[in-house]
Amino acid sequence: MAGKLGMKHGVNVRRSVFCYMCKQQKEKITRKYCKKCAANYMRAWRAKHPLNAVARAKLKLRRDTKMRIKNGLLIPYPCEICGKKEVEAHHEDYNKPYEVRWLCREHHRALHKTGIKKTSEGGL
Ligand SMILES: [Zn+2]
Ligand SMILES: [Zn+2]
Ligand SMILES: [Zn+2]
Repeated sequence: MAGKLGMKHGVNVRRSVFCYMCKQQKEKITRKYCKKCAANYMRAWRAKHPLNAVARAKLKLRRDTKMRIKNGLLIPYPCEICGKKEVEAHHEDYNKPYEVRWLCREHHRALHKTGIKKTSEGGL
């Protein structure tokens, strides 16, 4: 009893203007959920997947560093290897937020790959 409309998996996913969760009209047709539901979803996801203490500390440090640069508490220097002006802050120890090494993206990556100081927690 095969109907005309074959149930091919995945084909029925239509773009809808309504949120999958609350069925209210959402802001973006390309998104599955409205902003509110997306935020709720993220919160629930984060509750199920909590960051460990190290990851949390790193996240906080990254945020604080941005703020400190903005407030002039930390002044970025050119990359210590190549002298590039666009730099990222590298912390060998996230318990010492003001001990920063400034490296361009490329050299920052390289540093993490080779890992000058190989601790289990790693640098930032
Ligand atoms: Zn919604
Ligand atoms: Zn560099
Ligand atoms: Zn780093």
